[in-house]
Amino acid sequence: MTMVIDGKAVAADVVTKVRIAAEKLIAETGVVPGIAVVIVGHDPASQVYVASKGKKAKECGFHSVEHALSADTSEADLVALVQKLNADPKIHGILVQLPLPGHIDAGKIIQTISADKDVDGFHFTNVGKLGTGELDTAFVPCTPAGSMLLIERTLGRDLSGLNAVVVGRSNIVGKPMANLLLNANATVTIAHSRTKDLPALCRSADILVAAVGRPEMIKGDWVKPGATVIDVGINRLDAGANGKSKLVGDVDYDSAVEQAGAITPVPGGVGPMTIALLMANTVVSACRAAGQSAPRF
Ligand code: NAP
Repeated sequence: MTMVIDGKAVAADVVTKVRIAAEKLIAETGVVPGIAVVIVGHDPASQVYVASKGKKAKECGFHSVEHALSADTSEADLVALVQKLNADPKIHGILVQLPLPGHIDAGKIIQTISADKDVDGFHFTNVGKLGTGELDTAFVPCTPAGSMLLIERTLGRDLSGLNAVVVGRSNIVGKPMANLLLNANATVTIAHSRTKDLPALCRSADILVAAVGRPEMIKGDWVKPGATVIDVGINRLDAGANGKSKLVGDVDYDSAVEQAGAITPVPGGVGPMTIALLMANTVVSACRAAGQSAPRF
């Protein structure tokens, strides 16, 4: 029987632990975890993400502020806002919603965020800490951190002897995912658009992570029997005859579920984990700022 990994349930468990950790921190130190979300412009998808982050932060008992700036905000003004949030002791996590309008250098803005408040884990300091295995003081990007938690809950924390293949080498998913797997002692291969014979490589994987952005690309006969399959992909397919659009992953679920030992569905797999790990990173940041030991999720 294939185990369908319930990302919603694990995410709910993480959020409960975050809320308990926040309550404990407030009771013991008076420090309320604080998150600031900055959005520039009116991208509808970004507005939905920002609203759900604010809602989840309130659910966790956080102090939550949103800065909605107009699309013509200058880079200098955005830098100034980030610097102000860096200096604000009530704020422990700063998130600048991407994408930013074209006239703003997103890389510059990300590197302006204090590494100690970089709950997205994109600052070079946090990237370097993950790369060197300094996980106790790093912030790890939320989607790979959430995916890793699903792997841990399925296979345990030590992946010694297991082959992992990560398809995709982006800075926000593929590369940090590979580092997390390596840190857990898996033997890791990163595949990308120039990889030769991808199906054969995928078939060697005990753990197969798909972060490609191509709907249902990875087929069932690419999956090693019994493998753990983590589908990070979120692709919206156009409306069919019923007029409803459909969300699918990068894995062809119907054929892969026949082969896998465990698999994440889309939706309801990795998706809910990202926001839960953002909350987890924020409470960890607040604990560090208050000199308290940070919870592990
Ligand atoms: P990305 O930056 O576009 O990177 C895609 C990667 O896939 C690249 O490394 C690319 O290779 C590789 N690739 C593309 N076509 C390929 C092919 N035919 N064969 C092998 N590799 C191929 O995407 P991303 O930001 O990492 O996101 C990946 C997926 O995860 C997307 O579906 C995205 O929507 C989803 N996502 C989900 C969440 C979540 O919360 N669940 C969060 C972030 C992203 P090259 O480097 O060679 O071009």
